[in-house]
Amino acid sequence: MAYYLREPLNTGRALSTRRPTINEFFLSSYTLSVYTGCEIGCPYCDSWVYSERPLNETIHVPIDLPQRIAEELETVDRGDLIAISALSDPYQPAEQNYRLTRQTLQILADRGQPTMVLTKSPMVLEDLALLRRINEQSLALVMTTLVTVDPHLALKLEGKAPPPGLRLEMLAELKQAGIPVGVALVPVMPYLNDTEHALRSVLRACAETGVDFVVWDYLHIPNERHRIRVHEILARVGSYPNSYYRDIYGGRSQVDPRYRRDRDRALITRCDGLNLEIRAPHQLYAGKLSAHNEAALLLKHAAFRDRIEGRDRSAQSHRQLADEIYAGMIDRAEIRRSPLARTIEEILERTA
Ligand code: SF4
Repeated sequence: MAYYLREPLNTGRALSTRRPTINEFFLSSYTLSVYTGCEIGCPYCDSWVYSERPLNETIHVPIDLPQRIAEELETVDRGDLIAISALSDPYQPAEQNYRLTRQTLQILADRGQPTMVLTKSPMVLEDLALLRRINEQSLALVMTTLVTVDPHLALKLEGKAPPPGLRLEMLAELKQAGIPVGVALVPVMPYLNDTEHALRSVLRACAETGVDFVVWDYLHIPNERHRIRVHEILARVGSYPNSYYRDIYGGRSQVDPRYRRDRDRALITRCDGLNLEIRAPHQLYAGKLSAHNEAALLLKHAAFRDRIEGRDRSAQSHRQLADEIYAGMIDRAEIRRSPLARTIEEILERTA
C-alpha cells in the first residue's frame, strides 16, 4: 500500500511546456501527469529513474490540479492534443479515491480539447461519457501499454497491473463505444518479449481486438540503478545472465542500432501482414487537430516507415518538414518535393 501525499502543486506547471516537436506516438503537443509516482510500479518503467523516492511508495496527489489546468488551458491552442500519460498511470489506485483524472477530463471535455489517455486500467471505462464528449468535439484517444499477452510473463514483468487480457477487453469496449484505441508495445525488451513468437502473439491479439494502431519502442536503460533493476528482471524471468544485454546495450542507454533495425523490420512485416497500422492512421485525426499538427503527424508517420524500409533521405526530409510545419514555418517549395505534397497542401489550406 502506497503513502498518499495530498498537497498543492505549488510551483511549476500542471501541463508540460509545449513540445518543440509533435509526439508521433501519442499525437501530443503537451503532456500531463495527474499523479506523481505510480503504485503499479512496473520494474521496466522509466519513471523509476525520475522519481526521488521508490516510484510505487509515495504518490503525490496534487489537490489543486483541476484549477491549475483550467488556468493553463487558457493559453493552449484548441488544436493541440494533451497526452495524459507522463510518468504515472492516471487510473492507478489513487484515482479510486481522489478522481483527479476524472476532474481533468471534465475540464478538457468542457473545452473540447483533443486528449489522449494512456492507461493499463479498465477504470478508464468509468469515464466513458467524458471521453465521448471530447470525441464528439475533437478527438479522445485511449491507449494501453501491452508488453506481452502471456499472463505468466505479465505477472513477472508487471505483477500489479491489470492482466493483459483485461486491457484488451477494455480496448474492445472503448472501440465499440466509438473511442479510437491504440496499443503501445513499450518497452520491447531483448530476450524477454522480442522473440518472433512473443511479437506475433501480441500483434495478433491487437489485430483480433480491432485496435486502430500500435506503436513500439525499446527498453531504455538511462542509469546504473535502472540497469540493476533490469538485471533483476532478467534473473527472475529466465535466469538469463547479465551478459545477455552487454552486446545489445554495451553500456549505453539505448539498444544497438543494428538490433533496432532488425526488430523494427520484424515488427513492421508482422503488422503489415495483419493489416495493423504502425502509427495512428490519418483518418483517425484528420480535421480533429490543428492543420499544422495534422500535417506534421502525417509526415512524421511517413518518415517512420521510410526509415525502416531504407529510404533514409526521404525519412530525413519528411521529419525535418514535419518539425518546421509544426513550428509554423511553411516552405512551399520543400512541401512540393514530398510525395505527400497534395495532401499536405490540402490540409494546410485550412489555415489560409
Ligand atoms: S503503470 Fe505505467 S507509469 Fe505506472 S509503473 Fe507501470 S509503466 Fe510506469
